Amino acid sequence: MKIFTNIKELREDLDRARAAGHSVGLVPTMGALHEGHGSLIRAACAENGYVVVSNFVNPTQFAPTEDLDAYPRSLEADCRLAKEIGAQAVFAPEVQEMYPEGDSTWVEVTGHLTGILCGRTRPTHFRGVTTVVAKLFNIVGPCRAYFGQKDGQQAQVIRRMINDLFMPVELRIMPLIRESDGLAMSSRNAYLSSEERQAALVLSRTLNEAQKMMEGGQLDKAAIVDFITDSIKAGALGSLDYAEIYQFPDLSEMGATLSGQVFIGLAVKFGGARLIDNVVVDLAP
Ligand code: AMP
Repeated sequence: MKIFTNIKELREDLDRARAAGHSVGLVPTMGALHEGHGSLIRAACAENGYVVVSNFVNPTQFAPTEDLDAYPRSLEADCRLAKEIGAQAVFAPEVQEMYPEGDSTWVEVTGHLTGILCGRTRPTHFRGVTTVVAKLFNIVGPCRAYFGQKDGQQAQVIRRMINDLFMPVELRIMPLIRESDGLAMSSRNAYLSSEERQAALVLSRTLNEAQKMMEGGQLDKAAIVDFITDSIKAGALGSLDYAEIYQFPDLSEMGATLSGQVFIGLAVKFGGARLIDNVVVDLAP
Protein backbone atom coordinates (compact mmCIF):
# COMPACT_ATOMS: atom_id res chain seq x y z
CA MET A 1 0.00 0.00 0.00
CA LYS A 2 1.26 3.47 -0.91
CA ILE A 3 1.13 6.55 1.29
CA PHE A 4 0.83 9.90 -0.49
CA THR A 5 1.14 13.38 0.97
CA ASN A 6 1.27 15.03 -2.42
CA ILE A 7 -1.70 15.62 -4.78
CA LYS A 8 0.32 15.27 -7.98
CA GLU A 9 1.76 11.88 -7.04
CA LEU A 10 -1.63 10.53 -5.96
CA ARG A 11 -3.15 11.66 -9.26
CA GLU A 12 -0.39 9.93 -11.25
CA ASP A 13 -1.07 6.68 -9.36
CA LEU A 14 -4.83 7.07 -9.98
CA ASP A 15 -4.17 7.59 -13.71
CA ARG A 16 -2.16 4.35 -13.79
CA ALA A 17 -4.92 2.48 -11.94
CA ARG A 18 -7.60 3.76 -14.31
CA ALA A 19 -5.43 2.93 -17.34
CA ALA A 20 -5.20 -0.62 -15.96
CA GLY A 21 -9.02 -0.72 -15.93
CA HIS A 22 -9.66 -0.27 -12.20
CA SER A 23 -12.60 1.63 -10.77
CA VAL A 24 -11.73 3.97 -7.93
CA GLY A 25 -13.19 4.02 -4.42
CA LEU A 26 -12.58 6.98 -2.08
CA VAL A 27 -13.04 6.81 1.70
CA PRO A 28 -12.67 10.30 3.22
CA THR A 29 -11.70 10.24 6.92
CA MET A 30 -10.06 12.42 9.56
CA GLY A 31 -7.97 9.46 10.74
CA ALA A 32 -7.92 7.87 14.22
CA LEU A 33 -9.52 4.97 12.40
CA HIS A 34 -11.84 2.48 14.08
CA GLU A 35 -14.12 -0.27 12.86
CA GLY A 36 -16.69 2.28 11.65
CA HIS A 37 -14.10 3.53 9.15
CA GLY A 38 -13.02 -0.09 8.60
CA SER A 39 -16.50 -0.99 7.38
CA LEU A 40 -16.35 1.80 4.77
CA ILE A 41 -12.91 0.68 3.56
CA ARG A 42 -14.12 -2.93 3.36
CA ALA A 43 -17.15 -1.90 1.29
CA ALA A 44 -14.92 0.18 -0.99
CA CYS A 45 -12.50 -2.72 -1.48
CA ALA A 46 -15.37 -5.07 -2.36
CA GLU A 47 -16.57 -2.74 -5.13
CA ASN A 48 -13.41 -1.17 -6.59
CA GLY A 49 -10.02 -2.22 -7.92
CA TYR A 50 -8.28 0.82 -6.39
CA VAL A 51 -9.22 2.22 -3.00
CA VAL A 52 -7.76 5.40 -1.54
CA VAL A 53 -8.40 6.33 2.10
CA SER A 54 -7.89 10.02 2.76
CA ASN A 55 -6.64 10.92 6.22
CA PHE A 56 -6.85 14.64 6.89
CA VAL A 57 -7.98 16.56 9.96
CA ASN A 58 -9.67 19.39 8.10
CA PRO A 59 -9.22 22.68 9.98
CA THR A 60 -12.02 24.53 8.18
CA GLN A 61 -14.76 22.35 9.63
CA PHE A 62 -13.75 23.20 13.22
CA ALA A 63 -14.86 26.47 14.84
CA PRO A 64 -12.10 28.35 16.74
CA THR A 65 -13.60 27.11 20.05
CA GLU A 66 -13.65 23.46 18.98
CA ASP A 67 -11.25 20.50 19.34
CA LEU A 68 -8.97 20.83 16.27
CA ASP A 69 -5.70 20.70 18.26
CA ALA A 70 -6.90 17.91 20.56
CA TYR A 71 -8.32 15.76 17.75
CA PRO A 72 -6.70 12.29 18.00
CA ARG A 73 -4.05 11.48 15.39
CA SER A 74 -2.62 8.00 14.70
CA LEU A 75 -1.39 7.91 11.11
CA GLU A 76 0.85 4.84 11.48
CA ALA A 77 -1.85 2.63 12.99
CA ASP A 78 -4.35 4.03 10.44
CA CYS A 79 -2.09 3.01 7.55
CA ARG A 80 -1.69 -0.49 9.02
CA LEU A 81 -5.47 -0.90 9.24
CA ALA A 82 -6.10 0.42 5.72
CA LYS A 83 -3.43 -1.93 4.35
CA GLU A 84 -4.78 -4.94 6.29
CA ILE A 85 -8.24 -4.38 4.85
CA GLY A 86 -6.84 -4.09 1.34
CA ALA A 87 -6.71 -0.41 0.38
CA GLN A 88 -4.22 0.53 -2.34
CA ALA A 89 -3.39 3.99 -0.98
CA VAL A 90 -3.65 6.39 1.93
CA PHE A 91 -3.68 10.11 1.14
CA ALA A 92 -2.45 12.08 4.17
CA PRO A 93 -1.70 15.65 3.06
CA GLU A 94 -0.51 18.53 5.22
CA VAL A 95 -2.85 21.54 5.61
CA GLN A 96 -0.59 23.52 3.24
CA GLU A 97 -1.16 20.94 0.45
CA MET A 98 -4.96 21.16 0.75
CA TYR A 99 -5.18 24.93 1.36
CA PRO A 100 -2.13 26.30 -0.48
CA GLU A 101 -3.45 29.86 -0.63
CA GLY A 102 -5.62 29.85 2.48
CA ASP A 103 -9.31 29.02 2.59
CA SER A 104 -10.80 31.66 0.30
CA THR A 105 -12.86 29.42 -2.04
CA TRP A 106 -15.85 27.80 -0.34
CA VAL A 107 -18.30 25.19 -1.50
CA GLU A 108 -21.44 25.56 0.56
CA VAL A 109 -24.82 23.88 0.65
CA THR A 110 -27.18 26.55 2.02
CA GLY A 111 -30.68 26.50 3.45
CA HIS A 112 -32.66 24.06 5.56
CA LEU A 113 -30.35 21.05 5.24
CA THR A 114 -27.34 22.80 6.81
CA GLY A 115 -29.38 24.94 9.23
CA ILE A 116 -30.77 22.05 11.29
CA LEU A 117 -29.23 19.47 13.68
CA CYS A 118 -25.42 19.94 13.77
CA GLY A 119 -25.76 22.99 11.51
CA ARG A 120 -27.66 24.85 14.21
CA THR A 121 -24.96 24.56 16.88
CA ARG A 122 -22.00 24.38 14.46
CA PRO A 123 -22.98 27.04 11.89
CA THR A 124 -19.70 26.97 9.90
CA HIS A 125 -19.10 23.22 10.13
CA PHE A 126 -20.74 21.92 6.95
CA ARG A 127 -19.20 24.65 4.80
CA GLY A 128 -15.82 23.27 5.85
CA VAL A 129 -16.90 19.70 5.19
CA THR A 130 -18.29 20.36 1.70
CA THR A 131 -15.26 22.46 0.80
CA VAL A 132 -12.75 19.78 1.74
CA VAL A 133 -14.82 16.95 0.25
CA ALA A 134 -15.16 18.90 -3.01
CA LYS A 135 -11.37 19.31 -3.03
CA LEU A 136 -10.95 15.55 -2.46
CA PHE A 137 -13.41 14.75 -5.27
CA ASN A 138 -11.51 17.08 -7.61
CA ILE A 139 -8.20 15.51 -6.65
CA VAL A 140 -9.40 11.91 -7.03
CA GLY A 141 -11.72 12.34 -10.03
CA PRO A 142 -14.69 10.12 -10.94
CA CYS A 143 -15.16 7.56 -8.19
CA ARG A 144 -17.45 5.87 -5.74
CA ALA A 145 -17.24 7.70 -2.41
CA TYR A 146 -18.06 6.03 0.90
CA PHE A 147 -19.64 7.86 3.84
CA GLY A 148 -21.18 6.57 7.07
CA GLN A 149 -24.75 6.95 8.31
CA LYS A 150 -23.11 7.75 11.68
CA ASP A 151 -22.97 11.29 10.27
CA GLY A 152 -26.39 11.03 8.67
CA GLN A 153 -26.81 14.77 8.07
CA GLN A 154 -23.33 15.04 6.58
CA ALA A 155 -24.15 12.24 4.11
CA GLN A 156 -27.27 14.12 2.94
CA VAL A 157 -25.33 17.40 2.64
CA ILE A 158 -22.74 15.62 0.48
CA ARG A 159 -25.54 14.12 -1.61
CA ARG A 160 -26.94 17.60 -2.24
CA MET A 161 -23.51 18.94 -3.22
CA ILE A 162 -22.89 16.07 -5.66
CA ASN A 163 -26.34 16.45 -7.24
CA ASP A 164 -26.37 20.26 -7.39
CA LEU A 165 -22.85 20.49 -8.88
CA PHE A 166 -23.15 17.41 -11.16
CA MET A 167 -20.07 15.87 -9.60
CA PRO A 168 -19.02 12.56 -11.22
CA VAL A 169 -19.23 10.70 -7.92
CA GLU A 170 -21.39 7.76 -6.91
CA LEU A 171 -22.28 8.23 -3.24
CA ARG A 172 -22.43 5.11 -1.08
CA ILE A 173 -23.85 5.59 2.43
CA MET A 174 -22.97 2.72 4.77
CA PRO A 175 -24.62 1.61 8.04
CA LEU A 176 -23.71 3.04 11.45
CA ILE A 177 -21.33 0.70 13.32
CA ARG A 178 -21.68 0.40 17.12
CA GLU A 179 -19.62 -1.02 19.95
CA SER A 180 -21.09 -4.25 21.39
CA ASP A 181 -22.82 -2.24 24.15
CA GLY A 182 -24.50 0.11 21.66
CA LEU A 183 -22.23 3.19 21.72
CA ALA A 184 -21.78 4.55 18.19
CA MET A 185 -18.11 4.17 17.24
CA SER A 186 -16.37 7.55 16.97
CA SER A 187 -12.83 8.88 17.08
CA ARG A 188 -14.13 11.32 19.72
CA ASN A 189 -14.99 8.46 22.12
CA ALA A 190 -11.28 8.61 23.00
CA TYR A 191 -11.98 11.85 24.90
CA LEU A 192 -14.31 10.10 27.37
CA SER A 193 -13.30 9.17 30.92
CA SER A 194 -14.41 5.67 31.93
CA GLU A 195 -17.30 7.20 33.84
CA GLU A 196 -18.35 9.29 30.83
CA ARG A 197 -17.91 6.30 28.52
CA GLN A 198 -20.46 4.40 30.62
CA ALA A 199 -22.80 7.40 30.82
CA ALA A 200 -22.58 7.87 27.04
CA LEU A 201 -24.63 4.72 26.57
CA VAL A 202 -27.60 6.99 27.26
CA LEU A 203 -27.56 8.10 23.58
CA SER A 204 -28.13 4.70 21.98
CA ARG A 205 -30.38 3.53 24.80
CA THR A 206 -32.60 6.59 24.45
CA LEU A 207 -32.83 6.26 20.67
CA ASN A 208 -33.66 2.58 21.07
CA GLU A 209 -36.44 3.32 23.54
CA ALA A 210 -37.80 6.13 21.34
CA GLN A 211 -37.88 3.69 18.41
CA LYS A 212 -39.82 1.15 20.50
CA MET A 213 -42.31 3.82 21.61
CA MET A 214 -42.91 4.80 17.99
CA GLU A 215 -43.25 1.22 16.82
CA GLY A 216 -45.68 0.72 19.70
CA GLY A 217 -47.90 3.49 18.34
CA GLN A 218 -46.62 6.75 19.93
CA LEU A 219 -46.60 8.98 16.84
CA ASP A 220 -46.72 12.39 18.52
CA LYS A 221 -43.48 14.14 17.55
CA ALA A 222 -43.49 16.48 20.57
CA ALA A 223 -43.97 13.55 22.96
CA ILE A 224 -40.99 11.70 21.47
CA VAL A 225 -38.78 14.81 21.65
CA ASP A 226 -39.87 15.34 25.30
CA PHE A 227 -39.07 11.72 26.12
CA ILE A 228 -35.58 12.02 24.59
CA THR A 229 -34.90 15.34 26.36
CA ASP A 230 -35.96 13.91 29.74
CA SER A 231 -34.01 10.70 29.22
CA ILE A 232 -30.76 12.59 28.45
CA LYS A 233 -31.29 14.91 31.43
CA ALA A 234 -31.82 11.89 33.69
CA GLY A 235 -28.43 10.60 32.49
CA ALA A 236 -26.82 13.37 34.64
CA LEU A 237 -23.31 13.58 33.11
CA GLY A 238 -24.30 14.56 29.60
CA SER A 239 -25.86 17.84 28.49
CA LEU A 240 -28.20 17.81 25.51
CA ASP A 241 -27.07 19.79 22.46
CA TYR A 242 -30.07 18.85 20.31
CA ALA A 243 -32.71 16.20 19.72
CA GLU A 244 -34.53 16.72 16.41
CA ILE A 245 -36.80 14.69 14.16
CA TYR A 246 -37.05 14.89 10.37
CA GLN A 247 -38.25 12.92 7.38
CA PHE A 248 -35.65 10.47 6.07
CA PRO A 249 -33.69 10.53 3.83
CA ASP A 250 -33.93 14.17 2.74
CA LEU A 251 -34.28 15.58 6.31
CA SER A 252 -37.27 17.70 5.30
CA GLU A 253 -39.64 18.91 8.05
CA MET A 254 -41.77 16.28 9.76
CA GLY A 255 -45.38 17.07 10.70
CA ALA A 256 -46.65 16.87 14.28
CA THR A 257 -47.67 13.24 13.66
CA LEU A 258 -44.79 10.96 12.76
CA SER A 259 -45.08 8.95 9.54
CA GLY A 260 -43.01 7.29 6.82
CA GLN A 261 -39.26 7.03 7.38
CA VAL A 262 -38.33 9.02 10.48
CA PHE A 263 -34.82 10.31 11.27
CA ILE A 264 -34.04 11.10 14.91
CA GLY A 265 -30.75 12.97 15.42
CA LEU A 266 -29.16 13.47 18.80
CA ALA A 267 -26.08 15.33 20.08
CA VAL A 268 -24.92 15.25 23.70
CA LYS A 269 -21.89 16.86 25.33
CA PHE A 270 -19.79 15.04 27.90
CA GLY A 271 -17.12 17.41 29.20
CA GLY A 272 -15.09 18.36 26.12
CA ALA A 273 -16.57 15.58 23.97
CA ARG A 274 -19.63 16.17 21.82
CA LEU A 275 -21.14 12.87 20.70
CA ILE A 276 -23.75 12.38 17.98
CA ASP A 277 -26.00 9.45 17.22
CA ASN A 278 -29.10 8.82 15.14
CA VAL A 279 -31.66 6.24 14.20
CA VAL A 280 -34.02 5.80 11.27
CA VAL A 281 -37.41 4.35 12.16
CA ASP A 282 -39.52 2.98 9.33
CA LEU A 283 -43.19 3.61 10.07
CA ALA A 284 -44.26 2.99 6.48
CA PRO A 285 -47.26 0.64 6.38
P1 AMP B 1 -14.53 10.91 10.49
O1 AMP B 1 -13.13 10.37 10.43
O2 AMP B 1 -15.13 10.83 11.86
O3 AMP B 1 -14.69 12.23 9.81
O4 AMP B 1 -15.41 9.90 9.65
C1 AMP B 1 -15.06 9.51 8.35
C2 AMP B 1 -16.19 8.71 7.75
O5 AMP B 1 -16.39 7.55 8.55
C3 AMP B 1 -17.52 9.47 7.72
O6 AMP B 1 -18.20 9.19 6.51
C4 AMP B 1 -18.24 8.90 8.90
O7 AMP B 1 -19.65 8.96 8.79
C5 AMP B 1 -17.75 7.47 8.90
N1 AMP B 1 -17.90 6.89 10.23
C6 AMP B 1 -17.39 7.35 11.40
N2 AMP B 1 -17.83 6.60 12.44
C7 AMP B 1 -18.64 5.66 11.90
C8 AMP B 1 -19.43 4.59 12.45
N3 AMP B 1 -19.47 4.35 13.76
N4 AMP B 1 -20.13 3.82 11.60
C9 AMP B 1 -20.12 4.06 10.27
N5 AMP B 1 -19.41 5.04 9.69
C10 AMP B 1 -18.69 5.83 10.49
